[in-house]
Amino acid sequence: MAKSLTPMRHQYLQIKKQYPDTIVLFRLGDFYESFDEDAKIVAQACDIVLTSRPVGKGQRVPLAGVPYHAVEGYIAKLIKAGHKVAIVEQVGAQPLRGLMPREVIRVVTPGTIVEPTLLEEKSNNYLAALVIEGNRAGIAYADITTGEFATTQLSGDDVEQMAAEELERLRPAECLIPDTSNLQSPISNLQPPISNLQLQISKYESWRFELGNARQALLDHFEVASLAGYGCEGLPLAVRAAGAIVQYLRETQKAALAQLSDMRTYSTSEFMTLDASTRRSLELTRTIRTGAAKGSLLGVLDATVTAMGGRLLRQWLNQPLLDVNKLEQRLDAVEALYQDTPTRTQVVALLKQLADLERLTSRAVQRIAVPRDLVGIRKSLEKVPQIREALSQLKGAEGDHPLQTLLSQLDPCEEIASLIGEAIVDDPPATLASGGVIKAGFSAELDSVATASRDAKRWVANLEQTERKRTGIKSLKVGYNKVFGYYIEVTKANLAAVPEEYIRKQTLVNAERYITPELKEYESLILNAQERILDIEARLFRQVCDQVAAAAERLLSTARALARLDVYVALAEVAIRNNYVRPVLTDGHEVEIIAGRHPVVELTRREEPFVPNDARFSQEEGILIITGPNMSGKSTFLRQVALIVLMAQVGSFVPADQVRMGLVDRIFTRIGAQDEIWAGQSTFMVEMIEMANILHHATNRSLLILDEIGRGTSTYDGMSIAWAVVEYIHNHPRLRAKTLYATHYHELTELADILPRVRNYNVGVAEDGDKVIFLHKIVPGGADRSYGIHVAQLAGLPRTVIHRAEEILEELERDSHRSPIRPRRIAEIRQLALFPETSLIIEELKKLDVESMTPLEALNRLYELQREVGGD
Ligand code: ATP
Repeated sequence: MAKSLTPMRHQYLQIKKQYPDTIVLFRLGDFYESFDEDAKIVAQACDIVLTSRPVGKGQRVPLAGVPYHAVEGYIAKLIKAGHKVAIVEQVGAQPLRGLMPREVIRVVTPGTIVEPTLLEEKSNNYLAALVIEGNRAGIAYADITTGEFATTQLSGDDVEQMAAEELERLRPAECLIPDTSNLQSPISNLQPPISNLQLQISKYESWRFELGNARQALLDHFEVASLAGYGCEGLPLAVRAAGAIVQYLRETQKAALAQLSDMRTYSTSEFMTLDASTRRSLELTRTIRTGAAKGSLLGVLDATVTAMGGRLLRQWLNQPLLDVNKLEQRLDAVEALYQDTPTRTQVVALLKQLADLERLTSRAVQRIAVPRDLVGIRKSLEKVPQIREALSQLKGAEGDHPLQTLLSQLDPCEEIASLIGEAIVDDPPATLASGGVIKAGFSAELDSVATASRDAKRWVANLEQTERKRTGIKSLKVGYNKVFGYYIEVTKANLAAVPEEYIRKQTLVNAERYITPELKEYESLILNAQERILDIEARLFRQVCDQVAAAAERLLSTARALARLDVYVALAEVAIRNNYVRPVLTDGHEVEIIAGRHPVVELTRREEPFVPNDARFSQEEGILIITGPNMSGKSTFLRQVALIVLMAQVGSFVPADQVRMGLVDRIFTRIGAQDEIWAGQSTFMVEMIEMANILHHATNRSLLILDEIGRGTSTYDGMSIAWAVVEYIHNHPRLRAKTLYATHYHELTELADILPRVRNYNVGVAEDGDKVIFLHKIVPGGADRSYGIHVAQLAGLPRTVIHRAEEILEELERDSHRSPIRPRRIAEIRQLALFPETSLIIEELKKLDVESMTPLEALNRLYELQREVGGD
């Protein structure tokens, strides 16, 4: 049976066997063909016709082919549909007999694409690897289009939660995890919350994640004997994840590995922690409703003009810092550019002319650069001296100012720019296929072949004239056809005048065609020259690419400095445009925002001016309970406080008149019911899971934004939970977090009478007859009315419903004992409120291992406990 197959079918099946889960695109002449099941998938995903092809005696198999020049678009469709694609090319020379040799030159997966048309300009395309074991996890990620490669190790009882947070930040295009389907393995399968992230998962053989293999892969890749220099020697999970990435790339995208010349080991504790739901609800980089950047914080701040800057700003927004010094440096840079508008304008104009130097350099390193990529590199580098010149004029950036450091990192790589300038024509064709890429004067060899070819062409072009003159045949013609090449044509009437040395080649009805040995010599010169020119050009282009690749480190460091400059300029530009101020960062715990605004809402509500609001958190005032009618602006206020803090910790100016704040380690949000309902869990359950996460992890440096918790259950249950949560935050010694709590339960305002650090605020409302006017102003004190019915009326509920609701409300208000908390006497509640605190102390006492404590430790602990219950 197998014997009856064609040799090519054999070759195909051999290759396909090694790539069972991958669509194999098999190069045949001008097409990439797919067969069998693959063909059906390709036909469907790419919307092309499914045909069939004979593969041996009486056998046909399904076939779907795509033209080679348009393959990129089809690969994009297949990747989008969740497939991997192996590209099989003809390699080497045509053997004398038999088949063209073919092999897989590349496997395209979502995390390893390099085609500009498949990539988003202002986003990174990360390939990540995740390995979890017990209470530890390793996460590594690489972007082969920019050369970024980093790894980290997480540990803790809630390591899955931590891993989910980190993966949500990265949003990798593809995530490798160990394939545990075939073995009993200590490596666990994915569980929520990671499984809720909807990652594109690629299962990879689990031995690839074993420490020995992974470590060796890294050592081989970096050609070193120890990983100590990379900071991950003592972090086995970080090594395992990073090693898996290197092995995966070696198999799928060998050329890309050269791109990963360095690796960074980082700790997530360097950055503000933001869990997945906080990132989403604060709409940092995309809106909940549309998923687009427009309408998000990134949408407001992104005034970057280069793709590199765009990517960096996104990274910064996703990783607010916890280091005052680093933040001050960023703020200094933004401030200098903010102050000096003429220089800034000049720098922006120059930055606008830059190509994506980072990705273009990566293409050169991977040897996939086309001539225009190199010209892009040259043009960008040529701008660097001008950018340096402009920056050096910047006022207020002298001495050890961060912009001076940046300036020193802007290496114009002159020899690379001039090499490309000398080698590649200014406006080269898209590919090398038709020549015309290398400039005259760059290579003597190329020039001499080109000159010879040009001379030969000129000789042939003149031949008609000279021969007419020599022979006296006025109608003599010189022509060209594919079969005979160049020829001289003489009509039958003039045959007598044909010179002796003409050799007859072809007879037509009215004419004879001749050649001469000289003409044939020139002909072969022209034809050979064309081929040689292409060969030489390809070789020279490769050499230039090699030289560019050899300078990759300098080019990339310049690219990254340019990206940073672009971000600084963008932040300065936005600060001026939107009237932001520089935040004052302190070592303390206090946060004070004067006349703060919501960065997004203030721009979208142009018809009415945005009403600024203050927010203060101090030792005495830690929990702000905000009541107020629907639609009055509570959620806007809550979010604006979080966004202002976050912007400050990114290094941006902030929308306020004045901000003074100590750094915040985490922002937690629990905002309303959201549409991200996890599989099989109710909205209320999700809300409670998130609340539990907050109460377990918040510290006294955290900022808690709680919007109407407990709304998803009955009023009594909801209010009781809300009440208890506020008490817990207030009393727990570890917590004491800065908390903004918006609620419709007016009863909760009574907490301020009981708990010293709780304050009530409400959103001002003015009534004008029947009309209610929302003032959007946050003022001290609790609200006493909801105006919910008023909002219902605005929304257009039928009049009858509105009237009836008003009646019921009146009834209920008269009968106030229906409210679950109000009838209790404050004293009783005070007792209730004390209870959790006391029980906490009891728990602490129970946990003490008195026997192993020194008397001094015991005394100190006793002292601390006493302080926690408010004694002295
Ligand atoms: P609900 O309780 O119904 O959820 P809310 O009190 O949280 O409502 P928001 O959603 O924050 O109200 O705001 C309602 C509207 O008021 C929004 O459309 C917003 O544009 C506008 N708004 C909010 N704050 C301000 C402000 N400070 N100045 C001007 N307009 C504002």
